[in-house]
Amino acid sequence: MGRQVILLDRDGVLNRGSNEYVLRPEQLVLIEGAAAAVGCLVRAGYTILVVTNQSCLGKGLLSFQELERIHHRLQASLGEEGGGIHQIYVCPHRAEAQCSCRKPRPGLLHRASREWFFSLSDCWFVGDNWTDVEAAVAAGCRPILVRSGVQGKRAKPDPSVPDFSDLADFVKNLLGGHP
Ligand SMILES: [Mg+2]
Ligand SMILES: [Zn+2]
Repeated sequence: MGRQVILLDRDGVLNRGSNEYVLRPEQLVLIEGAAAAVGCLVRAGYTILVVTNQSCLGKGLLSFQELERIHHRLQASLGEEGGGIHQIYVCPHRAEAQCSCRKPRPGLLHRASREWFFSLSDCWFVGDNWTDVEAAVAAGCRPILVRSGVQGKRAKPDPSVPDFSDLADFVKNLLGGHP
């Protein structure tokens, strides 16, 4: 069996989403239960990779150095529950740039698969936005929708995509053997 990987979106899955960008470390507030859920996954042997669109970089609202500080806080908070992210993949581009890595395009998922040596068809991608589901489907991974983000109240265009209230709910089901 290959490496077991869970791919996660960031905003609305790990930290509270809003219609504003997270531009400072103190604006990053974890969703209740998210850190414990990541800790459970790590203890169960999963590799955790995050794939996030941060067009605030391309718009010049945030520097890569500032993003590093935000992610340092994220990792520190997750570490309090024994978890952590193995790697965070970021698309820094604006939507108009038409890059191949901004979700719903699957560029970063393919890159993660190459760099971590796992098969996309064997892993879940958990997101709060329909564009996460589209990226997962485009990459051939199994999509999971969580309702913990700002998009969470939107109806699912495709009722066959499994949905959970939040990451903790999904992880409980996954590790309980009923994904
Ligand atoms: Mg999100
Ligand atoms: Zn991009």
